[in-house]
Formats: sequence, structure tokens, C-alpha cells
Amino acid sequence: MASERELLMHLENLSVNYRTRRGWVSAVDDVTMDIYKGEVLGLVGESGSGKSTLGKALMRLNPRSARVTGKLMFLGEDLMTYSNAQMRRIRGDRISMVFQDPMTSLNPIQRIVNHITETIRTHQPQTPESEAVNRAKELVDVLGISDNRLDDYPHQLSGGMRQRIMIALGLALNADLIIADEATTSLDVIVEAQFMALLKDLCREFNLTILLITHNIGLVAQLADRVAVMYAGRLAEVGPVETIFKDPQHPYTRGLLGAVPTILLDDHEELYRMEGSPPDLIAPPPGCRFHPRCKHAMDVCKIETPVFKPIENGNATSCWLYDDIPAEFTGELLVSAQEVVGT
Ligand code: ATP
Ligand code: SF4
Ligand code: MG
Repeated sequence: MASERELLMHLENLSVNYRTRRGWVSAVDDVTMDIYKGEVLGLVGESGSGKSTLGKALMRLNPRSARVTGKLMFLGEDLMTYSNAQMRRIRGDRISMVFQDPMTSLNPIQRIVNHITETIRTHQPQTPESEAVNRAKELVDVLGISDNRLDDYPHQLSGGMRQRIMIALGLALNADLIIADEATTSLDVIVEAQFMALLKDLCREFNLTILLITHNIGLVAQLADRVAVMYAGRLAEVGPVETIFKDPQHPYTRGLLGAVPTILLDDHEELYRMEGSPPDLIAPPPGCRFHPRCKHAMDVCKIETPVFKPIENGNATSCWLYDDIPAEFTGELLVSAQEVVGT
């Protein structure tokens, strides 16, 4: 997959800080990452690690209290330079978001068919109503919903069906990127699995790209092509799903996956347990934000921020275990100084 991957989005030094009464919350810090066309990219990390903030930043949907900096290259253009009007078009046409509870995104007094046809006609006003209705029928069909449900109101559908309608709305626009933020949390396990399998098929069929934000590591293992692991607003590790599960390198990734009782970790001789909880992002720890919880922490980790970079197994990680430690932390300078003075 590596060579023919087509870049959809490139985030560069993306940071999001929220202004609060207690001070600035560093919710996303210096994230640089690629998203490729047609992939399912899983985004995981403990609660409060910045996943939703990052997902919203991709659509520039963060609240006014947020200061967002960095680059958001989408098909070669920096969305950070777009006006609100231009962003509204992007949100409608190119990137869509599926939230946890579709009821809040669907109009309760509007039939399903109208949701879809209006979506189509808002973005392609020249489409005749009859054609829009036909397209709505095709879309629900693709999503495994009988077209006689098109006349239903949102509350008449099950949670799983409503999720599918949200996807149908995304497909109606031919969105390039769908951001699913805990989209399946309200569904039962079987419906969730069916829904996610459907998403995966759609991805293949329509060359859709999905950013799958979830606490459900099992779901990520099943569906994602690549996985990004966040800790306290920063990327800890990114890599192909196989490598992330079978050969995780960052101590946090190991800790997070250590909580997964699964055969996926078959080659893993040691399951890591993490002590403690994530830091307060108003005053995150200096250096590596994970250092207070890391059993490998060294002096350098407490002062210098590790750079996020590719490592040997094909993943990318931010950890001093995989980088050259500056001389002042290794004692080498001291040794050579002592040699110079002959002591
Ligand atoms: P969860 O898994 O619980 O959904 P998350 O990984 O999505 O968590 P975010 O919701 O992005 O995390 O939050 C990241 C940090 O930003 C947290 O410290 C959170 O308290 C803070 N935060 C989120 N939204 C706001 C806001 N509107 N104002 C101030 N702080 C916020
Ligand atoms: Fe642990 Fe240091 Fe790596 Fe951070 S940089 S994860 S503290 S070893
Ligand atoms: Mg969230």
C-alpha cells in the first residue's frame, strides 16, 4: 500500500489551545500527520487526550474559545487560510462528521427522504427533485435500509439505522473524508460490528476515507488500516494496524494495548500496565508529557520534548528510547571535558 498511497490531508504542527478561566488548555500540541485516501485511520487514546479536539480541528469546528495554529493541508490547500464561507462548503461537500448521537444532527420533524434530498440539493441546486429522490433510494439501499423507510421520521428508526442515515448524508455529498467520533458508542455490540463492517465496505467501494475516533480498541484492530495513538494532546505513535498491535514501541502504546485481552498480542512477551492518570493539560509535564507515568523515563524525558519521527519498524513515534539523546544528558560532555583537563 505504501507506494501508491494518495495523500488526502496533511496536518502540520497542528495545535489547539482552549482559553479557560484557569488558563490555556493545551488540548492538541504540535501534531504532524498524514491521512491517505481510502484508508480507515483509527485515532485512539485515553479520555481527554485530544481526539475530538483534533477531529473537530480538521473541519475547523472548534469553539471560539479555541486558538488553532499550524497547517491543515487538504488536497494541497491549507484550510487554515479559508474563510468561513469556504469552510462551510468544505464541511458540506468534502468532509463530514458522524457524531455519537445522530438524533441531535437530524431534524425530528423532517422525513428521512427530505434530509437526503435537501442535502443533495443544497450542494447541487440544479439536481431535479425526482433525481434527488432516486439518489436517496440508491443510497439507503447501499446502506442496507429498505427504501420504504425513507418516509419515516428519525425517531421511527433504530439507532443503527440513524447512524447509517448519517453516513448516507455523507455519501450524498460524495464526501472525501468522514470523521466518526465515537459514532457507534450508543449502539449495541452486534449492530456496532455490522455498522463498522458496512463502513469498511463503503470505504473500499467509494474510496472513502474515515477517521475513526473511538475508545474501542477491538474495533480499531478489526477495521483500521493505520492507527494514531494520542497521549495528552500529542501523537505518541502512528503506524499500520498490524505493527501497532504486534510491535508497539512507545511505552504508552504498550500500556494502552496491554489493557486489551486479545490474541492480537500473541507475540507479546510482556503486557504493560500503566499507573496513574493523564495530566492536567493546563500545566502539562515538561519534556515528554508521559514521563510521570513511564517506567522507562530518563532525565532527558523530563526536560526535552521527544521529536515525532519514523522508526525502524515502519511506525513513527515520539520517544527518547528511539532517538539520540543530547550529550548533556548522557554525561559524554562531562567525560570529554575531564579528558581534556587530564583528570
Ligand atoms: P474523550 O475520549 O473523553 O472524548 P478526547 O480525547 O476526545 O476525550 P477532547 O475532548 O479533545 O479529548 O479534550 C482534550 C482536552 O481539551 C481535555 O483536557 C478537555 O478537558 C479539553 N477541552 C475540550 N473541549 C474544551 C473546551 N471547549 N474548552 C476547554 N477545554 C476543552
Ligand atoms: Fe518514556 Fe521517555 Fe519515551 Fe516519554 S520519551 S515515553 S518518558 S522513555
Ligand atoms: Mg472525544
